[in-house]
Amino acid sequence: MSSVQDIEKCKCGGKAYVDFDLRTSEEDKFCSHCGYTFEHLLNRDEHGNPTDGNYQTTIQDGYGSLFISYITDDFRIRCFHEPISGEIVEKFFNEINHNPLIDKKNSYLLRYENNQLTSIFGEIPEMYDAFRKRMEAMEAFPW
Ligand SMILES: [Zn+2]
Repeated sequence: MSSVQDIEKCKCGGKAYVDFDLRTSEEDKFCSHCGYTFEHLLNRDEHGNPTDGNYQTTIQDGYGSLFISYITDDFRIRCFHEPISGEIVEKFFNEINHNPLIDKKNSYLLRYENNQLTSIFGEIPEMYDAFRKRMEAMEAFPW
């Protein structure tokens, strides 16, 4: 795979992870804050081989995201493409409060509604501008 990874600013102000394949021009993007996803992929058969050379573009709005970090270094991430229901919130808290393998400090559940990102649980992770600033500060370091 000859792909490049990049981080872009999402409309929510969060960090959108971009994966771009230089060879096929396929693009895959998702925002870990609001859950927005963009996919521009070649039509492929069941073996993963391109079929007609045409692309399929899928854009899904984000309503939030969930990140569960485990003390075993595993993690689970999920993007929501419809409003987060009370049931999901309940399930999340149930899991967080009863699974001793979860690293609560690094887990979060975020809601994105009316162009507003809010935390249902946990701290909102570093937004794009703060990330950019940190990167520039690192690059400015002389050694
Ligand atoms: Zn976003």
